[in-house]
Amino acid sequence: METEKLYDSFGRRVRSLRISLTELCNFRCIYCTTSSISILPSSHYLTRYEIHRFVCIANKLGIEKVRLTGGEPMLREDIVEIVQSVKTTGTQEVSITTNGSRLAPMLSALKKAGLDRINISLDSMNAERFREVTLVHAFREVMQSVFLALKAGFPVKLNMVALKGLTRDEILEFVGLARDWPLDVRFLEFMPLCGEAWRPDLVFPIGEIRSIVQDHFQLEEIPRDDAPAQTFRLISGKGRVGFIGSLTESFCDQCSRIRLTADGNIRPCLFSGTQVPIKALLRENAPDAAIAAAIREAVRIKPAGNAFRNQSFDSSEETLRGAGPAIRKTGG
Ligand code: SAM
Ligand code: SF4
Repeated sequence: METEKLYDSFGRRVRSLRISLTELCNFRCIYCTTSSISILPSSHYLTRYEIHRFVCIANKLGIEKVRLTGGEPMLREDIVEIVQSVKTTGTQEVSITTNGSRLAPMLSALKKAGLDRINISLDSMNAERFREVTLVHAFREVMQSVFLALKAGFPVKLNMVALKGLTRDEILEFVGLARDWPLDVRFLEFMPLCGEAWRPDLVFPIGEIRSIVQDHFQLEEIPRDDAPAQTFRLISGKGRVGFIGSLTESFCDQCSRIRLTADGNIRPCLFSGTQVPIKALLRENAPDAAIAAAIREAVRIKPAGNAFRNQSFDSSEETLRGAGPAIRKTGG
């Protein structure tokens, strides 16, 4: 198998892989369309052995980082085995993005399995509002996971989807967490990746969030490289803050990611409608070269950026309303 590194047609080196482990979730976040009920047979999902083989081949092509996501990845009963198996491929960094509700009891097993870092989604630090956003009562479990993950020695990032009419007043409180604890808080703009759940009235433009933070905290910017977030160190604080403006500010120019869906398709971009099927190849035990060719094809068709990157957004409700329907939900 030829092992030349992966470069897309815009010259960007692809070195990071997001693997969705399931489309299911135990939360019902108002900006997300994952489902809590499965009517699909287990054969719908890639097994951990198929994931392992895929990652081994991807690594030979230069993939260095793997992030496990979903849906809610902690719903996979074999999550610890998956982490361990991905880590044994020699992947430099294995991380997970989780809603945190089932994380605390698994931390020690995940650490032993080789998990390197954890992103936890937390949109509100007010228990009642947390329920309004996620539609579940799990605030205590999530907060407990955040602090136990830190205690267990994991680098922790908190992902906060800031929602204009709902969580605006918590922006500074979240930065306070990064001031007091050695963790990263990342503000995410609400993206139109959610079909019917799209609510333009809730979009909180990332520039406005950054201004609010900069008015109250002294920040020092950290070089961005290929990270989706613009990140700052808090001059008087232990942690960092980051801003991801998928809609109003493009982060696509340095993108180094491809995605593997839970049902076995390689997706060149979170916003792509096109994907390269891989499940049949894995199940037919196709040669490594055929799997590698499918990965190269996904990289070849990787778009320059999402549909919004060349538009200048005025953040008016009319503009934002138009962003929604064309895009379908893809998962994490
Ligand atoms: N269930 C896990 C979680 O919530 O962390 C992993 C999957 S979730 C799809 C991954 C990340 O995408 C989360 O941080 C979530 O807040 C974010 N997300 C989901 N839908 C979004 C949307 N419409 N706009 C912005 N961020 C979104
Ligand atoms: Fe579940 Fe994550 Fe979607 Fe919330 S954002 S519903 S936790 S998959």
